[in-house]
Amino acid sequence: MASEDKSPGVEHRDPQYFGYYAMLQHQQNMLQDNVRTSTYRSAILLNGPRCFQDKLVMDVGAGSGILSYFSVQSGAKHVYAVEASAMAKKMDRLVKTAGQNGKNAFLKDKITVINAKIEDADLPIPQVDTIVSEPIGVLLFHERMLESYIHARDHYLKPGGALFPSKGGIYLAPFTDATLWTETMAKARFWEQSEFYGIDLSSLYQEAKTEMFGMPVVGHFDPRQLITTPTVMDSYDVDFATVTLDQLKDMTIPFDWVSGYTGLMHGIAGWFDLTFGPPPYHDTANLTPEQRNEMAGTTIDMSTGPAAERTHWQQVRFLFKEPLAVNATQKISGWMRCIVNDMRSYTIFVEVALDKSKLTDPATLDTSNTDEYTFIKEFKHDPLVRRGVWELHEQTYNYTYNPDMVQPGHQPEYTCLYQPDQTIMNDLMDSYQDFC
Ligand code: SAH
Repeated sequence: MASEDKSPGVEHRDPQYFGYYAMLQHQQNMLQDNVRTSTYRSAILLNGPRCFQDKLVMDVGAGSGILSYFSVQSGAKHVYAVEASAMAKKMDRLVKTAGQNGKNAFLKDKITVINAKIEDADLPIPQVDTIVSEPIGVLLFHERMLESYIHARDHYLKPGGALFPSKGGIYLAPFTDATLWTETMAKARFWEQSEFYGIDLSSLYQEAKTEMFGMPVVGHFDPRQLITTPTVMDSYDVDFATVTLDQLKDMTIPFDWVSGYTGLMHGIAGWFDLTFGPPPYHDTANLTPEQRNEMAGTTIDMSTGPAAERTHWQQVRFLFKEPLAVNATQKISGWMRCIVNDMRSYTIFVEVALDKSKLTDPATLDTSNTDEYTFIKEFKHDPLVRRGVWELHEQTYNYTYNPDMVQPGHQPEYTCLYQPDQTIMNDLMDSYQDFC
């Protein structure tokens, strides 16, 4: 196996990363995410006849083994469960005792647990018909485990084999949240003090601001804080059947929004959805109706968006240091470039403009000096443009939103979003089009 097949830059994090997953409490946290676990179960059981019955299956990053057990329930002939952490030994105990004292008789002799990294050479695994995995982190790609999933596809999946999940879609949208912005600013302002026990801290204020605003905020939020609501048409798709390792290492997500309100944009929110479906994933146009029928299966989607049922992934928000004032119907354009870092995560660069001609080309981004990105350092401030850099692994949490506490009859102005009357909206839209 060539070394470039691996994911350089993640190995030094392995002890910490796999130490985390070796603990039952962290596996439990994922198992108890009912949206996640029941979606996987439905996808695997409903596609039993096509993708699992009498098939060879691999579970990449098996953890507690839940996806392997579902695969056996769905008729798999044999499952190869690869797990790098010491959780493999716990799973093995469950598998080895199958059939004893009437426990889990259905699993007996059906699963081989392999305590290794999927990237290790010479694993005792044949080519398989189907791969199941849950390699998903915050905003889909945090943790960089998607690279291991793609590695498994490239090395162990028979041509035309099935992938569960088969696709991920990333969604971005502008949001307003004056409270979150003010709380973040309050943390930075601590460093503005000139008389803290007689010491002037203020020379660190700018750095504190950069640090506090550079932390992605993970948590659920009220979907009514979105300034635009993306549709499936706006999703940035990551097709697990075709995406390459190189593509995963550097992704640019363009966006073009039309503001639904007049208000302050405090940053960009992100989430993802997952699609589980049987192959063929491509070139289906020329299939005969009989072939289509033969291939029939069930495709299932799961959303982690703010309006969907909660999952343990929650949503993520990237706060701007300087909010951006937008008018209803105004166009907000820009891009987010996500580049892998050696913290098993991504560094995220964003540029947003109310005048598209002011946008720079994301391909020209200079990331050479990672302490102080030239992208920010050389930015000449412009009232219509915002830039930001975030480290996706430097997450902070915000759990203030509780959907059960939301009063019915919410009006957008409660969150300082102002919606013109429909006639005014129409005029504004017209004038915008004239302008274009
Ligand atoms: N499949 C389980 C666990 C998902 S969490 C479930 O759905 O509940 C992801 C698991 O993948 C963790 O247990 C982690 O230790 C394992 N993992 C991550 N990268 C891996 C790699 N390169 N090789 C093998 N296992 C890996």
